[in-house]
Formats: sequence, C-alpha cells, structure tokens
Amino acid sequence: MRSAVVLGGSFAGLLAARVLSDHADEVIIIEPGQGPAGHVSPAQPHHQQLHALLATGHTELEHWLPGITDELVAHGAHLGTATSVQFYSDGVLKPSSTDINMLGATRPFIESHVRDRVLSIDNIRVLSAQARDLLLDGSQVSGVRIARSGGAGGPACEEEMRADLVVDAMGRSSRLSTWLEAHGWGKPPVDRLRIDLGYATAFFRRGEELPDTVIAHSSPGPASGYQQRLSEPGALTAVEGDRWSVVLAGYGDYRPGQDPQEFLRRMRRCVAPLREVADSCEMMSEVAPFSFRESQRRNFGQMKRFPGGLVVAGDAVASVNPIYGQGLTLATLAASSLSAHLRSAKSPRDPALGYFRRLGSAVDAAWQISTAADLAQPHVTGPYPRGYWMTRRAGDMVTAASVIDPVVNHTFTNVLHMRAHPRALARPGLLLRSAAVLASSRTKGPRRWADS
Ligand SMILES: Cc1cc2nc3c(=O)[nH]c(=O)nc-3n(C[C@H](O)[C@H](O)[C@H](O)COP(=O)(O)OP(=O)(O)OC[C@H]3O[C@@H](n4cnc5c(N)ncnc54)[C@H](O)[C@@H]3O)c2cc1C
Repeated sequence: MRSAVVLGGSFAGLLAARVLSDHADEVIIIEPGQGPAGHVSPAQPHHQQLHALLATGHTELEHWLPGITDELVAHGAHLGTATSVQFYSDGVLKPSSTDINMLGATRPFIESHVRDRVLSIDNIRVLSAQARDLLLDGSQVSGVRIARSGGAGGPACEEEMRADLVVDAMGRSSRLSTWLEAHGWGKPPVDRLRIDLGYATAFFRRGEELPDTVIAHSSPGPASGYQQRLSEPGALTAVEGDRWSVVLAGYGDYRPGQDPQEFLRRMRRCVAPLREVADSCEMMSEVAPFSFRESQRRNFGQMKRFPGGLVVAGDAVASVNPIYGQGLTLATLAASSLSAHLRSAKSPRDPALGYFRRLGSAVDAAWQISTAADLAQPHVTGPYPRGYWMTRRAGDMVTAASVIDPVVNHTFTNVLHMRAHPRALARPGLLLRSAAVLASSRTKGPRRWADS
C-alpha cells in the first residue's frame, strides 16, 4: 500500500499503526487529542482507572514491540508472575499459575511508552485532526474527510485525505456506523448488555508492605451467589512511581462514590491485600469515579455488504465490562488479526471479511466471559443467550472447582486471560474433574468463602 490512515491514536490505533508500518509506505494517525509537544495525548477519563493487561495482551504487545516489557520495568512498572498475581473468588485465594505474566503499571504509562515506540518508526506520523467522514469510491473506501483545528479559536478547515486502507480506532463512541449508513451501506447489528457498573480508582503510596504482590483481584462467585455485598469486588496493582492503584467496583446502587473515607471502609471489607493497603498506606490521590452503563459490540462481520479498504479495531468494535480487563487485550488481538489479514488477503482494498472473522472469534470469547458473569448479577435482566441456564450451571461448577484444584484453575485462568476459548470450560473431562473435586471437598467439609 502507498498509504494507510488510522483514525484514533490511542492503544488500538497505535498498535494498528505498528502493524501497518510493515505493509504501507506511509501510515498516518489522525488524532484530535494531540498535545503541543507533538505527542498524542488523548485525555480519556477512563484511562485514569486501574488497567490490567491480561497475559495474552502482554504476549501480543511484546510481539509487536519487542523489549517493551524490559523498557517498562526499567522505568518503574512491575512484572507479576506466579504467586505475585493473586486472584480471589468469593474471598478465597485461588491456586497460582506459574505461566501467567501480568504488567503492573498505569494505562497512561504503558500507553506513553507504546506511543514513543510506535511514533519512532520512520514511516508513521501523527496528524492533529478529527475524522469527519469516509470517502468512498464505488464499493471501496478511498480515504477520509478530516478537520484540522483552525488554530487560535479559528474555524476548523476540512480536507480530504486519500488512503488505500482506513482503520477505525476511534473508541466506543466512533461514528463509523453512522457514516456507513449515510453512504448507503447500513449499520452493523449491535449487541448490548445493560450492567450499570460503577468504578472508582485511587492511588496509595507503596512501601514495604506486600512485597510479594503485584496484582490482587477479587470478584464474587457462586459461593456468595455473586453478591457484591458479601464478596466485595476490587483489585490493586503495584504501578510505577512506588504506588498502588486500587479500584473498587459495584453494580447498581452499590457503585463506589468519591468519598475517600467510604473508599477506605469498602477496602477494609475486601480481601487481605486491599485491607492491608487501606490500613498501612497513605492515599495520595482523589478517588476518581467512572460509570459504565452497558457492554456493547458492533457486529461488522454480520453486515450484508461491507466496503473494501476499511477495518475497525479496539473499543470501536467491542467495549465490554472492564472488570474482566479484556479491552487492551482485544486491541492487541485486533492488531494481530490485521497482520494476518494483510499477509493473507489478495488485496487490502477487498472487504476485510477474513479480518472480521478472525477478530470476531476473540470478541465472541470476551463477550461470552464478561456477559456470562454479568448475567449472574440479580439486577441484570438479559437478554439471556440460548442455553444460558445450562452453561451457567456448568460455569458455576467449574468456577467453584477452580478455587480448589490447580488443574481446573489452569484451564479457567487460560480462558480468563484469553489464551483459550471459553468452550474449553465445557469439555467433558474438565466438567467431570470439577464435579469430582467439589464432591470430595464436600466430604472433607466445605470451605468458607470468607476464610482468606
Ligand atoms: C473504567 C474502565 C476500566 C478499564 N480497565 C481495563 C483494564 O483493566 N484492562 C483492559 O485491558 N481494558 C480496560 N478497559 C478497557 C480499555 O480502556 C479500552 O478497551 C481501551 O481504551 C480501548 O482503546 P481504543 O484505542 O480502542 O479506544 P480509546 O482508548 O477510547 O481511544 C479512542 C481514540 O480515538 C480518538 N478519536 C475519537 N474520535 C475521533 C475522531 N473523530 N477522529 C480521530 N480520532 C478520534 C480519541 O481521541 C481517542 O484517542 C477499561 C475501560 C474502562 C471504561
């Protein structure tokens, strides 16, 4: 390709640009949030919330930007592995997985290093502008209409930019569907699941406490009937600058507020690592709240017709319950799907059906994981997918067994970290083993979910 244009210069856009730099003479990132120093600086409110990168996201990121882990760690990030990555279900610490790597760092920190690496590639440049519409030439996208700031409050001036391939990475509020409809292509079908999630993140000074913890994550499970008041959902990660980033979450009217004292009270009802930080560490930021009303995915692969020369990545495709930490990983998988598509397709100007098929299976997996758990919440009222109650029973059994048995937990963890498809949880061998584990634990006496 002579030129490729990426709309949006955040995580998904930067990784797409990295991939495209192997296939196009010139890659241009269009990003309105560009700062004065020539750096893209999109100040999205959700970037301030705790962000964990799942094991698959970490592997993919390292693949596209080799050495990034060492670079991040050298600048203060933490690499969590084995027992320093602690997952709790219903208050009980699960067996650790020796082959899981997770980065402890804030989202702006990871993104600024990714951005520096990507923008140091010779054929990538960034333009401070806003995408306004697609340009179409028959059945093919031939570029994009952009508006550059007029400067000093002057009117924005619009211009056309030609490209062989356009990538929409404009995030959840992308207007691509509206543009496609206006050009006569129709809109993609959208799935939504209303969850009314509240999030709140605060930072604490990190000292000598919890030397063996990089990430601790706690969620309610089957033993508490998924009740957040019985098993407080929350997480912490050790991040750059000798800090802990702590997030609390809650659905419906149980969402955490901005009051620091209430935040500390709730941390003290959480699992041991969060209690420890609440008791020993100084809170060094305000509590930043965030509301997440619904998960959504746009099914571009299901459209009857789709123009050539166009792909979509990141939250512009799917934005799911952040508790499961899948968004950044989906963005890395979009980058790898794009690479596979460009290496295999006849021409990037053809409709990217192969790309949407590849990415669709990852999005489908993420959607299944997050919505299956959300639908277990009493205030979430569907829509329930076909076979939900059977899947739910099996899922509850495997989740309960994963707290006790390392073998079951290994598969469970692989699914959670998007290294295996959720269908791995329905394999007869795993179901039988889970049933046996639970039966034997009943004869030895039940484990109390509040024990740890
Ligand atoms: C509260 C919360 C917590 C989360 N925690 C995690 C977590 O722990 N782990 C995880 O993996 N994920 C997490 N996520 C999800 C993650 O934040 C998203 O998946 C990720 O931001 C997606 O990146 P993106 O580049 O697709 O979109 P965004 O980060 O939303 O970026 C979109 C970009 O497009 C630009 N843009 C918008 N309109 C235009 C336009 N017209 N022209 C050009 N550019 C435009 C914007 O300025 C922005 O820079 C969380 C999300 C939330 C809400």
